[in-house]
Amino acid sequence: KKPHIGFVGLGAMGLPMLVNILKHHNAGGAGGQVQSTSSGGGNAGGGGNAHVTAFDSSDVAQKKVHATCQGLGLDVRNFTFASSLNQVVRTSDVVITMLPSPESCKAVYDEMLNNEDVKTSLFIDCSTNDPNTARQIADKVNQAKLAPTSNAILEASNPVYVDAPVSGGVTAAAAGTLTFMLGADSEIAAKAAKPVLSTMGSRVITVGNTVGAGCAAKLCNNLVLAVSMAGVSEALALGERLGLRADELSDVINASSGRCWSSDTYNPAPGVQRDANSGELAGVPSNLAYDGGFALRLMLKDIRLANEVAEDGSLPMAHVAEKLYEHTASIVGENKDFSSVFDVVYGGAGV
Ligand code: NAD
Repeated sequence: KKPHIGFVGLGAMGLPMLVNILKHHNAGGAGGQVQSTSSGGGNAGGGGNAHVTAFDSSDVAQKKVHATCQGLGLDVRNFTFASSLNQVVRTSDVVITMLPSPESCKAVYDEMLNNEDVKTSLFIDCSTNDPNTARQIADKVNQAKLAPTSNAILEASNPVYVDAPVSGGVTAAAAGTLTFMLGADSEIAAKAAKPVLSTMGSRVITVGNTVGAGCAAKLCNNLVLAVSMAGVSEALALGERLGLRADELSDVINASSGRCWSSDTYNPAPGVQRDANSGELAGVPSNLAYDGGFALRLMLKDIRLANEVAEDGSLPMAHVAEKLYEHTASIVGENKDFSSVFDVVYGGAGV
Protein backbone atom coordinates (compact mmCIF):
# COMPACT_ATOMS: atom_id res chain seq x y z
CA LYS A 1 0.00 0.00 0.00
CA LYS A 2 1.35 3.41 -0.98
CA PRO A 3 1.96 5.79 1.92
CA HIS A 4 -0.57 8.54 2.52
CA ILE A 5 1.35 11.80 1.94
CA GLY A 6 0.82 15.07 3.80
CA PHE A 7 2.14 18.45 2.60
CA VAL A 8 2.26 21.65 4.67
CA GLY A 9 3.17 25.07 3.19
CA LEU A 10 1.92 25.73 -0.35
CA GLY A 11 3.75 28.91 -1.29
CA ALA A 12 6.03 29.73 -4.22
CA MET A 13 7.89 26.40 -3.80
CA GLY A 14 5.41 24.18 -1.98
CA LEU A 15 2.62 24.46 -4.55
CA PRO A 16 4.65 23.30 -7.59
CA MET A 17 6.22 20.55 -5.43
CA LEU A 18 2.76 19.37 -4.42
CA VAL A 19 1.65 19.42 -8.06
CA ASN A 20 4.51 17.05 -8.96
CA ILE A 21 3.51 14.68 -6.17
CA LEU A 22 -0.07 14.71 -7.46
CA LYS A 23 1.11 14.14 -11.03
CA HIS A 24 3.32 11.26 -9.93
CA HIS A 25 0.80 9.44 -7.78
CA ASN A 26 -2.44 10.23 -9.48
CA ALA A 27 -1.56 10.34 -13.16
CA GLY A 28 -4.49 9.69 -15.43
CA GLY A 29 -6.38 12.69 -16.73
CA ALA A 30 -8.94 15.02 -15.27
CA GLY A 31 -10.78 13.74 -12.26
CA GLY A 32 -13.15 14.85 -9.55
CA GLN A 33 -13.25 17.91 -7.38
CA VAL A 34 -10.68 18.76 -4.71
CA GLN A 35 -12.17 17.67 -1.43
CA SER A 36 -12.31 20.32 1.25
CA THR A 37 -13.34 18.60 4.44
CA SER A 38 -13.13 19.01 8.16
CA SER A 39 -13.01 15.27 8.76
CA GLY A 40 -10.32 12.84 7.69
CA GLY A 41 -10.14 12.40 3.93
CA GLY A 42 -9.73 8.63 4.11
CA ASN A 43 -8.21 6.67 1.29
CA ALA A 44 -10.40 7.29 -1.67
CA GLY A 45 -9.10 4.24 -3.49
CA GLY A 46 -8.38 4.77 -7.17
CA GLY A 47 -6.29 1.76 -8.09
CA GLY A 48 -3.89 1.92 -5.15
CA ASN A 49 -2.92 5.55 -5.75
CA ALA A 50 -1.45 7.43 -2.81
CA HIS A 51 -3.79 9.79 -1.04
CA VAL A 52 -2.42 13.32 -0.55
CA THR A 53 -3.58 15.71 2.18
CA ALA A 54 -2.28 19.29 2.10
CA PHE A 55 -2.56 22.30 4.37
CA ASP A 56 -1.68 25.99 4.30
CA SER A 57 -2.83 28.60 6.80
CA SER A 58 -3.48 31.16 4.07
CA ASP A 59 -6.81 31.32 2.20
CA VAL A 60 -5.00 32.74 -0.81
CA ALA A 61 -2.79 29.65 -0.96
CA GLN A 62 -5.82 27.36 -0.69
CA LYS A 63 -7.54 29.14 -3.60
CA LYS A 64 -4.33 28.91 -5.66
CA VAL A 65 -4.14 25.15 -5.09
CA HIS A 66 -7.68 24.66 -6.33
CA ALA A 67 -7.13 26.92 -9.37
CA THR A 68 -3.81 25.27 -10.24
CA CYS A 69 -5.18 21.73 -10.05
CA GLN A 70 -8.11 22.73 -12.20
CA GLY A 71 -5.94 24.62 -14.68
CA LEU A 72 -3.67 21.60 -15.13
CA GLY A 73 -6.57 19.17 -15.34
CA LEU A 74 -5.11 17.11 -12.48
CA ASP A 75 -6.94 14.08 -11.17
CA VAL A 76 -7.73 15.18 -7.64
CA ARG A 77 -9.94 12.32 -6.50
CA ASN A 78 -7.23 11.30 -4.03
CA PHE A 79 -6.46 14.80 -2.85
CA THR A 80 -7.80 16.52 0.27
CA PHE A 81 -7.24 20.09 1.38
CA ALA A 82 -7.10 19.73 5.17
CA SER A 83 -8.76 22.18 7.52
CA SER A 84 -6.03 21.87 10.18
CA LEU A 85 -2.52 20.61 10.85
CA ASN A 86 -4.06 17.98 13.14
CA GLN A 87 -5.93 16.52 10.22
CA VAL A 88 -2.64 16.20 8.31
CA VAL A 89 -0.82 14.20 11.03
CA ARG A 90 -3.88 12.10 11.83
CA THR A 91 -4.11 10.86 8.24
CA SER A 92 -0.63 10.95 6.68
CA ASP A 93 2.17 8.36 6.91
CA VAL A 94 4.75 10.86 5.60
CA VAL A 95 4.54 14.65 6.01
CA ILE A 96 6.56 17.14 3.94
CA THR A 97 6.88 20.71 5.22
CA MET A 98 7.88 23.75 3.09
CA LEU A 99 7.64 26.79 5.35
CA PRO A 100 9.05 30.31 5.26
CA SER A 101 11.16 30.54 8.44
CA PRO A 102 12.64 28.65 11.42
CA GLU A 103 9.95 30.27 13.63
CA SER A 104 7.09 29.08 11.42
CA CYS A 105 8.63 25.57 11.29
CA LYS A 106 8.91 25.39 15.09
CA ALA A 107 5.31 26.55 15.51
CA VAL A 108 3.96 24.12 12.90
CA TYR A 109 5.85 21.15 14.36
CA ASP A 110 4.73 22.05 17.92
CA GLU A 111 1.14 22.09 16.74
CA MET A 112 1.44 18.88 14.73
CA LEU A 113 3.07 16.99 17.63
CA ASN A 114 0.59 18.30 20.18
CA ASN A 115 -1.79 15.58 19.08
CA GLU A 116 -2.90 12.31 20.66
CA ASP A 117 -3.21 10.61 17.34
CA VAL A 118 -0.02 11.12 15.30
CA LYS A 119 0.00 8.63 12.44
CA THR A 120 2.98 10.21 10.68
CA SER A 121 6.16 8.24 11.17
CA LEU A 122 8.39 10.25 8.80
CA PHE A 123 8.62 14.05 8.69
CA ILE A 124 10.62 15.58 5.82
CA ASP A 125 11.33 19.28 6.28
CA CYS A 126 12.31 20.92 2.97
CA SER A 127 12.40 24.48 4.40
CA THR A 128 15.72 26.28 4.71
CA ASN A 129 16.53 26.55 8.42
CA ASP A 130 19.69 26.80 10.49
CA PRO A 131 21.14 23.43 11.58
CA ASN A 132 20.29 24.11 15.27
CA THR A 133 16.60 24.56 14.49
CA ALA A 134 16.59 21.31 12.52
CA ARG A 135 18.19 19.51 15.49
CA GLN A 136 15.69 20.98 17.98
CA ILE A 137 12.71 19.97 15.85
CA ALA A 138 14.19 16.48 15.31
CA ASP A 139 14.54 15.97 19.07
CA LYS A 140 10.90 16.95 19.65
CA VAL A 141 9.73 14.68 16.84
CA ASN A 142 11.73 11.76 18.26
CA GLN A 143 10.04 12.23 21.65
CA ALA A 144 6.52 12.18 20.24
CA LYS A 145 4.44 9.02 20.47
CA LEU A 146 3.02 7.36 17.40
CA ALA A 147 -0.63 6.37 17.40
CA PRO A 148 -1.11 2.59 17.70
CA THR A 149 -2.93 2.72 14.36
CA SER A 150 0.13 4.13 12.61
CA ASN A 151 1.24 2.25 9.55
CA ALA A 152 4.85 3.10 10.58
CA ILE A 153 7.03 3.06 7.50
CA LEU A 154 10.20 3.06 9.59
CA GLU A 155 9.05 0.38 12.01
CA ALA A 156 10.04 2.60 14.94
CA SER A 157 7.78 3.45 17.85
CA ASN A 158 8.55 7.16 17.55
CA PRO A 159 8.35 9.38 14.49
CA VAL A 160 11.55 10.43 12.70
CA TYR A 161 12.55 13.80 11.21
CA VAL A 162 14.97 14.50 8.36
CA ASP A 163 15.97 17.88 6.93
CA ALA A 164 15.99 18.09 3.14
CA PRO A 165 16.25 21.71 1.95
CA VAL A 166 16.17 22.29 -1.79
CA SER A 167 17.99 24.14 -4.51
CA GLY A 168 16.79 25.09 -7.97
CA GLY A 169 14.16 27.75 -7.27
CA VAL A 170 10.61 27.93 -8.56
CA THR A 171 11.57 26.89 -12.11
CA ALA A 172 13.08 23.61 -10.93
CA ALA A 173 10.22 23.11 -8.48
CA ALA A 174 7.77 23.31 -11.40
CA ALA A 175 9.91 21.09 -13.63
CA GLY A 176 10.43 18.52 -10.86
CA THR A 177 14.20 18.90 -11.13
CA LEU A 178 15.06 20.19 -7.65
CA THR A 179 18.24 19.16 -5.84
CA PHE A 180 17.63 18.00 -2.26
CA MET A 181 20.33 18.11 0.44
CA LEU A 182 19.38 15.41 2.88
CA GLY A 183 20.48 15.31 6.51
CA ALA A 184 19.36 12.22 8.48
CA ASP A 185 20.33 10.54 11.74
CA SER A 186 20.22 7.07 10.20
CA GLU A 187 20.62 5.41 6.84
CA ILE A 188 17.17 3.88 7.26
CA ALA A 189 15.58 7.32 7.58
CA ALA A 190 17.49 8.63 4.55
CA LYS A 191 16.44 5.59 2.54
CA ALA A 192 12.79 6.08 3.46
CA ALA A 193 12.86 9.78 2.47
CA LYS A 194 14.53 9.33 -0.93
CA PRO A 195 11.64 7.89 -2.96
CA VAL A 196 9.33 10.65 -1.70
CA LEU A 197 11.84 13.35 -2.62
CA SER A 198 12.52 11.79 -6.02
CA THR A 199 8.97 12.57 -7.11
CA MET A 200 9.83 16.29 -6.83
CA GLY A 201 13.49 16.45 -7.84
CA SER A 202 16.22 14.94 -9.96
CA ARG A 203 18.92 14.66 -7.29
CA VAL A 204 18.89 13.73 -3.62
CA ILE A 205 22.33 14.20 -2.08
CA THR A 206 22.85 12.83 1.42
CA VAL A 207 25.27 15.03 3.37
CA GLY A 208 26.92 14.48 6.75
CA ASN A 209 25.27 11.79 8.83
CA THR A 210 23.04 13.80 11.13
CA VAL A 211 19.93 15.92 10.97
CA GLY A 212 20.97 19.53 10.30
CA ALA A 213 23.62 18.66 7.72
CA GLY A 214 21.17 19.36 4.89
CA CYS A 215 20.55 22.86 6.28
CA ALA A 216 24.29 23.44 6.73
CA ALA A 217 24.87 22.60 3.04
CA LYS A 218 21.93 24.76 1.99
CA LEU A 219 23.16 27.85 3.90
CA CYS A 220 26.60 27.47 2.28
CA ASN A 221 25.03 27.13 -1.18
CA ASN A 222 22.89 30.22 -0.68
CA LEU A 223 25.91 32.21 0.46
CA VAL A 224 27.40 31.49 -2.98
CA LEU A 225 24.09 32.41 -4.62
CA ALA A 226 23.74 35.72 -2.74
CA VAL A 227 27.25 36.77 -3.65
CA SER A 228 27.15 35.53 -7.27
CA MET A 229 23.85 37.29 -8.00
CA ALA A 230 25.31 40.55 -6.69
CA GLY A 231 28.51 39.90 -8.68
CA VAL A 232 26.66 39.29 -11.96
CA SER A 233 24.54 42.41 -11.34
CA GLU A 234 27.64 44.52 -10.68
CA ALA A 235 29.36 43.22 -13.82
CA LEU A 236 26.31 43.84 -16.04
CA ALA A 237 26.07 47.38 -14.68
CA LEU A 238 29.78 48.00 -15.38
CA GLY A 239 29.34 46.54 -18.87
CA GLU A 240 26.47 48.95 -19.53
CA ARG A 241 28.67 51.89 -18.56
CA LEU A 242 31.34 50.59 -20.92
CA GLY A 243 28.86 50.38 -23.80
CA LEU A 244 27.93 46.65 -23.62
CA ARG A 245 24.31 45.50 -23.75
CA ALA A 246 23.28 43.15 -20.93
CA ASP A 247 22.34 40.37 -23.37
CA GLU A 248 25.61 40.41 -25.30
CA LEU A 249 27.71 40.60 -22.15
CA SER A 250 25.68 37.73 -20.67
CA ASP A 251 26.44 35.66 -23.80
CA VAL A 252 30.14 36.27 -23.18
CA ILE A 253 29.97 35.47 -19.46
CA ASN A 254 27.96 32.30 -20.15
CA ALA A 255 30.67 31.07 -22.51
CA SER A 256 33.44 32.09 -20.11
CA SER A 257 34.72 31.55 -16.59
CA GLY A 258 32.19 33.94 -15.02
CA ARG A 259 29.30 31.64 -15.93
CA CYS A 260 27.02 30.70 -13.01
CA TRP A 261 23.32 30.05 -12.28
CA SER A 262 22.76 33.79 -11.75
CA SER A 263 24.09 34.52 -15.25
CA ASP A 264 22.85 31.58 -17.33
CA THR A 265 19.58 30.47 -15.72
CA TYR A 266 18.24 33.34 -13.60
CA ASN A 267 19.80 36.40 -15.24
CA PRO A 268 18.86 39.58 -13.31
CA ALA A 269 18.64 41.91 -16.34
CA PRO A 270 15.15 42.22 -17.87
CA GLY A 271 14.87 40.86 -21.41
CA VAL A 272 18.00 38.71 -21.25
CA GLN A 273 16.95 35.25 -20.03
CA ARG A 274 15.43 33.18 -22.84
CA ASP A 275 14.09 29.67 -23.00
CA ALA A 276 16.85 27.45 -24.38
CA ASN A 277 14.51 25.57 -26.74
CA SER A 278 11.97 28.12 -27.93
CA GLY A 279 14.10 31.26 -27.73
CA GLU A 280 11.10 33.02 -26.11
CA LEU A 281 11.62 35.20 -23.05
CA ALA A 282 11.86 32.88 -20.03
CA GLY A 283 9.50 33.15 -17.05
CA VAL A 284 12.20 34.28 -14.64
CA PRO A 285 11.46 37.14 -12.21
CA SER A 286 13.63 39.67 -14.10
CA ASN A 287 11.22 39.28 -17.05
CA LEU A 288 8.20 39.60 -14.74
CA ALA A 289 8.92 42.87 -12.92
CA TYR A 290 10.80 40.82 -10.29
CA ASP A 291 7.61 39.18 -9.05
CA GLY A 292 7.49 35.53 -7.93
CA GLY A 293 10.71 33.58 -7.46
CA PHE A 294 12.92 33.78 -4.38
CA ALA A 295 11.64 36.62 -2.20
CA LEU A 296 14.15 39.08 -0.75
CA ARG A 297 12.80 38.23 2.72
CA LEU A 298 13.85 34.59 2.18
CA MET A 299 17.30 35.44 0.81
CA LEU A 300 17.80 37.81 3.74
CA LYS A 301 16.73 35.06 6.15
CA ASP A 302 19.31 32.67 4.68
CA ILE A 303 22.19 35.13 4.58
CA ARG A 304 21.41 36.24 8.15
CA LEU A 305 21.31 32.61 9.29
CA ALA A 306 24.73 32.05 7.67
CA ASN A 307 26.13 35.14 9.41
CA GLU A 308 24.55 34.03 12.72
CA VAL A 309 25.85 30.46 12.66
CA ALA A 310 29.35 31.70 11.78
CA GLU A 311 28.99 33.76 15.01
CA ASP A 312 32.32 35.56 14.75
CA GLY A 313 31.80 37.91 11.80
CA SER A 314 34.17 35.81 9.73
CA LEU A 315 32.13 35.98 6.51
CA PRO A 316 32.98 39.33 4.90
CA MET A 317 31.22 38.51 1.59
CA ALA A 318 28.06 37.42 3.39
CA HIS A 319 28.09 40.65 5.41
CA VAL A 320 28.28 42.83 2.30
CA ALA A 321 25.57 40.70 0.62
CA GLU A 322 23.30 41.14 3.67
CA LYS A 323 23.64 44.94 3.38
CA LEU A 324 22.95 44.92 -0.38
CA TYR A 325 19.79 42.82 -0.08
CA GLU A 326 18.61 44.81 2.97
CA HIS A 327 18.91 48.00 0.96
CA THR A 328 17.10 46.42 -2.01
CA ALA A 329 14.24 45.21 0.21
CA SER A 330 13.92 48.66 1.79
CA ILE A 331 13.32 50.15 -1.68
CA VAL A 332 11.16 47.56 -3.51
CA GLY A 333 9.70 45.63 -0.58
CA GLU A 334 10.74 42.26 0.77
CA ASN A 335 8.40 40.22 -1.45
CA LYS A 336 10.16 41.05 -4.71
CA ASP A 337 12.64 38.53 -6.07
CA PHE A 338 16.23 38.86 -4.85
CA SER A 339 17.52 39.45 -8.42
CA SER A 340 15.96 42.94 -8.14
CA VAL A 341 19.30 43.83 -6.50
CA PHE A 342 20.36 44.51 -10.12
CA ASP A 343 17.63 47.11 -10.53
CA VAL A 344 17.94 48.79 -7.14
CA VAL A 345 21.64 48.77 -6.30
CA TYR A 346 23.00 49.00 -9.84
CA GLY A 347 20.38 51.07 -11.61
CA GLY A 348 18.94 48.27 -13.76
CA ALA A 349 18.84 48.57 -17.57
CA GLY A 350 17.85 45.44 -19.42
CA VAL A 351 17.43 45.01 -23.18
P1 NAD B 1 6.49 31.29 0.62
O1 NAD B 1 6.49 32.37 1.61
O2 NAD B 1 6.11 31.57 -0.81
O3 NAD B 1 5.52 30.09 1.11
C1 NAD B 1 5.41 29.67 2.43
C2 NAD B 1 3.98 29.13 2.64
O4 NAD B 1 3.90 28.64 3.99
C3 NAD B 1 2.91 30.21 2.47
O5 NAD B 1 1.90 29.76 1.58
C4 NAD B 1 2.35 30.39 3.91
O6 NAD B 1 0.96 30.71 3.91
C5 NAD B 1 2.61 29.02 4.50
N1 NAD B 1 2.64 29.06 5.96
C6 NAD B 1 3.29 29.94 6.77
N2 NAD B 1 3.05 29.65 8.07
C7 NAD B 1 2.22 28.57 8.08
C8 NAD B 1 1.61 27.81 9.11
N3 NAD B 1 1.78 28.11 10.39
N4 NAD B 1 0.83 26.76 8.76
C9 NAD B 1 0.63 26.44 7.46
N5 NAD B 1 1.18 27.15 6.43
C10 NAD B 1 1.96 28.18 6.75
O7 NAD B 1 7.94 30.62 0.67
P2 NAD B 1 8.68 29.72 -0.45
O8 NAD B 1 9.32 30.60 -1.46
O9 NAD B 1 7.77 28.65 -0.89
O10 NAD B 1 9.87 29.12 0.46
C11 NAD B 1 9.64 28.09 1.41
C12 NAD B 1 10.99 27.62 1.94
O11 NAD B 1 11.80 27.17 0.84
C13 NAD B 1 11.81 28.71 2.64
O12 NAD B 1 12.52 28.14 3.70
C14 NAD B 1 12.76 29.17 1.55
O13 NAD B 1 13.94 29.74 2.10
C15 NAD B 1 13.02 27.88 0.82
N6 NAD B 1 13.42 28.02 -0.59
C16 NAD B 1 12.78 28.89 -1.42
C17 NAD B 1 13.18 28.98 -2.76
C18 NAD B 1 12.51 29.93 -3.73
O14 NAD B 1 13.05 30.12 -4.84
N7 NAD B 1 11.37 30.53 -3.39
C19 NAD B 1 14.23 28.18 -3.24
C20 NAD B 1 14.83 27.26 -2.37
C21 NAD B 1 14.42 27.20 -1.05
